[in-house]
Amino acid sequence: MAVKTFSFAVETKGFTDIIDITPRVSQIVSESGIMEGSALVFVPGSTAGITTIEYEPGLLKDYPEFFERIIPSNKRYSHDDTWHDGNGFSHVRAALQGASFTVPFSAGKLLLGTWQQIILVDFDNRGRSRRVIVQINGE
Ligand code: ZN
Repeated sequence: MAVKTFSFAVETKGFTDIIDITPRVSQIVSESGIMEGSALVFVPGSTAGITTIEYEPGLLKDYPEFFERIIPSNKRYSHDDTWHDGNGFSHVRAALQGASFTVPFSAGKLLLGTWQQIILVDFDNRGRSRRVIVQINGE
């Protein structure tokens, strides 16, 4: 078994910005030289998350609207008393979402569904430069 760790940078607009990172992850897996295993995709930071979705225009509206309904951005959050950075909603959304996603691969190819992409979601209340970590376990 081998473990290899890679990373890449992504510029975001914040405010539940959704970015398809599937091509980057796929490229890392194929360049790793590891043929069978799993890739852990992780974003450091407490206001972003990683998950999977069908990356199409409807869901790119539906997913942010879902978060606006359950964790509204215009509500008062105690976090803002601590840091006054106005992004309490961003932290709560990111905690619910989760910071990582694991995808298996075989013969050097991700075993994703045809309509299934890996996405970075930036919940912060400003644009950010994010680093995404991809840790590959396999042989
Ligand atoms: Zn904060």
